[in-house]
Amino acid sequence: MNFDDTPKEAEFRARVRAWLDKNAQKRAHDDANPYGEREDSGAIARAKAWQAKKFDEGWACLTWPKDAGGQEMGRMEAVIWGQEEAKYSLPPNIYAIGHGMLGPTLMAHGTKEQKDRWLRDMARGQEIWCQLFSEPAAGSDLAGLRTTAVRDGDDWVINGQKIWSTGAHYSDWGMIVTRTDPNVPKHKGLTYFVIDMRSAGVEARPIKQISGTSSFNEVFFTDVRVPDANRIGAVGDGWKVALTTLMNERVAIGSGGAGGGFRRLLDLARRSRRNGRPAIEDSAVRQRLADFYVTSKGLQYTGYRTLSAILRGATPGPEGSIGKAIGAPLGQQMAAFAVELQGASGGLLDRDAVGDDVMWQEMYLASPGIRIAGGTDEVLRNIIAERVLGLPPEIRLDKDKPFRDVPTGK
Ligand SMILES: Cc1cc2nc3c(=O)[nH]c(=O)nc-3n(C[C@H](O)[C@H](O)[C@H](O)COP(=O)(O)OP(=O)(O)OC[C@H]3O[C@@H](n4cnc5c(N)ncnc54)[C@H](O)[C@@H]3O)c2cc1C
Repeated sequence: MNFDDTPKEAEFRARVRAWLDKNAQKRAHDDANPYGEREDSGAIARAKAWQAKKFDEGWACLTWPKDAGGQEMGRMEAVIWGQEEAKYSLPPNIYAIGHGMLGPTLMAHGTKEQKDRWLRDMARGQEIWCQLFSEPAAGSDLAGLRTTAVRDGDDWVINGQKIWSTGAHYSDWGMIVTRTDPNVPKHKGLTYFVIDMRSAGVEARPIKQISGTSSFNEVFFTDVRVPDANRIGAVGDGWKVALTTLMNERVAIGSGGAGGGFRRLLDLARRSRRNGRPAIEDSAVRQRLADFYVTSKGLQYTGYRTLSAILRGATPGPEGSIGKAIGAPLGQQMAAFAVELQGASGGLLDRDAVGDDVMWQEMYLASPGIRIAGGTDEVLRNIIAERVLGLPPEIRLDKDKPFRDVPTGK
């Protein structure tokens, strides 16, 4: 198999590099921080400015249609862009949810008016979007959600609570799944809406994380009015619409940072000392590095296999879960090892004290969440077991019951 660029791809890559060289600062390391930078308020403004520049000069949302603000390029061009952009020092990617998941959902299920209203602005990035799916009692079992929407004239009235909503505190719009009919089985009584995050009755409360930052929120909805014109898909079809979002989420996460950072780890091992010698000379360190390298390469080639299938026109199937099932624990193990290699300074979450190596401390604290977001380890293994290996499915007693009759434990 040949992984080199074709002449056309090489020419495109050169154009991408030339534009990025002109407009951004190259990183000291080739490997990006797969967990991104911190989202302080200055970073949001810088992210918006960067996205506007990309949009205005023809480098935003490359695969999207032109009338949606994209460039109608192929998937391969988008991959090349992503590979090259990751080598530059840039503001945090606050658009992963909007561009990776919600935009494609609008394209698949939105009306023409809805697409015209939102997609171009989403591509230019001056309006930020969040995903309002998970609830305190509905995460892996998303279809068990309890936030309600009740029709009232031309509006719907939403009441309930979401949680872990990334970026909700700085978002302008959200995509929300609600229960509109409790009298049918859980997957059938759901409806999907776009909600204005500045509406009366929406309250986002940031959750303080172990790293000291707050990237996600609890969001409360009290009698929030949403026009019926903001409904995406038919009443009761919310599960179908949500599945489009979730399929895109897994592809976005699976093809993201999995296994990233190996070269930075190698560099750290060269600079660190163990028993009076460079750590890289220690056989136990070399053994760990070799294990990480082999797994990273396995992930990279598994990713290429998925990419080849996509380029042939196939839809990514359940095997896409493998990237995250292996990549998320690998990221956590590499970060833990990097913190250990740093010795006492590994305990410092302070860029001024440890410089760029603080990336590992940040990754160490973020990585448990990555093993949960977008499908936990256990849920991914269930998917692989049932849908790739064909093992017997889980017992699902509530599947055909009207939702109102599903026991709640109270
Ligand atoms: C960093 C981060 C960002 C997130 N961003 C968003 C966001 O922007 N929008 C949003 O809507 N949500 C978001 N989430 C929420 C995320 O989707 C959920 O946390 C996830 O789906 C798991 O749901 P839960 O937390 O309710 O855990 P639960 O589903 O309650 O799971 C608890 C435990 O039980 C296990 N478990 C559950 N079901 C099974 C089963 N069938 N078989 C075996 N084990 C099982 C799980 O693996 C887990 O260990 C985010 C989460 C994180 C960590």
